[in-house]
Amino acid sequence: MIRVKDDSCDFCGVCVSVCPTDAIELRESVLIIDEEKCTECQNCVYVCPIETLEYVS
Ligand code: SF4
Ligand code: SF4
Repeated sequence: MIRVKDDSCDFCGVCVSVCPTDAIELRESVLIIDEEKCTECQNCVYVCPIETLEYVS
């Protein structure tokens, strides 16, 4: 699964734009990852400029 490590996310939206299954949603000031939709490709982990996301097996 993909975990939000801390509250450093600045809601830039880059992770949303690279998710192939639209599993990430930015809602107000909350980042929501839909585990049902997530394929664990880790695109979001690689592109986050401030390393807010991490893959947890
Ligand atoms: S790319 Fe990183 S900083 Fe930007 S919205 Fe996603 S988790 Fe937040
Ligand atoms: S790991 Fe891939 S499928 Fe899952 S939220 Fe990140 S970009 Fe989307």
